[in-house]
Amino acid sequence: MKIFEELESEVRSYSRNFPRIFKRAQGEFIYDEDENEYIDFLAGAGALNYGHNHPIMRTKLIEYIESGGMTHSLDLFTDAKREFMETFREKILDKRDMDYRLMFTGPTGTNAVEASLKMARKLKQRSHVIAFTNGWHGQTLGALSMTANSHHRDGAGIALTGAHRLPYDGYLGDQLNTIEYLDKVLSDTSSGVDLPAACIVETIQGEGGVNYCSPEWLRGLSEVCKKHDVLLIIDDIQAGCGRSGSFFSFEEAGIEPDIVTLSKSLSGYGLPFAMVMFKPELDRWSPGEHNGTFRGNCHAFVTAKAAIDTYWSDDTFQQEVRKKGKYIADRLDKIVEKYGDGNFTVMGRGMFQGINCVNGEIASKITRAAFKKGLIIETSGTDDQIIKLLCPLIIAEEVLAKGIDIIEESIDEVCANIEVPEESDYFDDVTVNDTKED
Ligand SMILES: *Cc1c(COP(=O)(O)O)cnc(C)c1O
Repeated sequence: MKIFEELESEVRSYSRNFPRIFKRAQGEFIYDEDENEYIDFLAGAGALNYGHNHPIMRTKLIEYIESGGMTHSLDLFTDAKREFMETFREKILDKRDMDYRLMFTGPTGTNAVEASLKMARKLKQRSHVIAFTNGWHGQTLGALSMTANSHHRDGAGIALTGAHRLPYDGYLGDQLNTIEYLDKVLSDTSSGVDLPAACIVETIQGEGGVNYCSPEWLRGLSEVCKKHDVLLIIDDIQAGCGRSGSFFSFEEAGIEPDIVTLSKSLSGYGLPFAMVMFKPELDRWSPGEHNGTFRGNCHAFVTAKAAIDTYWSDDTFQQEVRKKGKYIADRLDKIVEKYGDGNFTVMGRGMFQGINCVNGEIASKITRAAFKKGLIIETSGTDDQIIKLLCPLIIAEEVLAKGIDIIEESIDEVCANIEVPEESDYFDDVTVNDTKED
């Protein structure tokens, strides 16, 4: 137990809120070493849309490994890559009438964001990129400069340049149209906002507080970008792969982004895998210009193909996600209503929703109470004030209901002012002592 405290950096984060040792997982459940069962409403921060250890993906992966399939391949052609690309074209791109090139980057989301920024700047020969309030795009310097959160930005230690920040949909209330503002500053040569290479945006801001933009806003953004010869990058790393109710989160808006980043649930199995998609005419990379040792991941190609075959061959899964999304919205509306007075509000859409508890302390009391009842759920937002529901999309309806029951009971408890003990003694029945001593 002590090994984590003694050896692992203080930078660890999720493990502080869920101080158990996890041993196995299946679907929407995780089990600790003492065989306690938890419902997983964190789902690898959106990397496990199809749950843990999906049996079909696991079988395909084991078969591939046992057959002596390539594990590492740089960017060589492999059968695993071919089959993934054929499936992705047939079941994702062609079905949506989308014409995009695929670029495999290093395996994490931030790698895909770096590549998309680099290509936009190279294509437009402009250094600035517009990013939005509460945006989250990763932790390496280029992506971090697009990220809004000061706790993370402050870690950079150098000036984060190259981003110009503009207000996201709703940031200034319902009355102010932030797209008109964007159009105005890009039209006015004395606005002080340099013409950017691109705008980078999330349709639902995962880490930034589950804010989402309306389809109208997104269409407006797309039009303003076209009007000013600015590329539109949709960072679909967390909102993509079905989370919003369709494979890509921008489908409802009917826009065609120039560049799209995907990672998190793309492999389907929790394996590291990231990809950038862009319009064919933007493919002006020269060979090896953006390189890397781990571009494409053969094991992830195998599970990603299996995920698409299993869930995206027809509309059934998408319909299920929408139905569950509606159930979540109905339940959360009722919970929020109960506490009236605008104390709590519901955020997000699809299976990407949250409860804004206004204050981070209350939100963390609620998530701690929920953990005690067997639910793993995290917070997001500036002040960690949003309880973020991010369960696997494949969750059984009765488990989804149970998870939300636990959230509701936890809110009831916290709001009834039941004294929730401090973290240290709260987990006194737990053998792990992972609280920082200072
Ligand atoms: C998680 C996330 C990233 C960064 O991905 P990493 O794999 O953590 O580097 C970038 N953009 C969005 C929208 C994300 O949610």
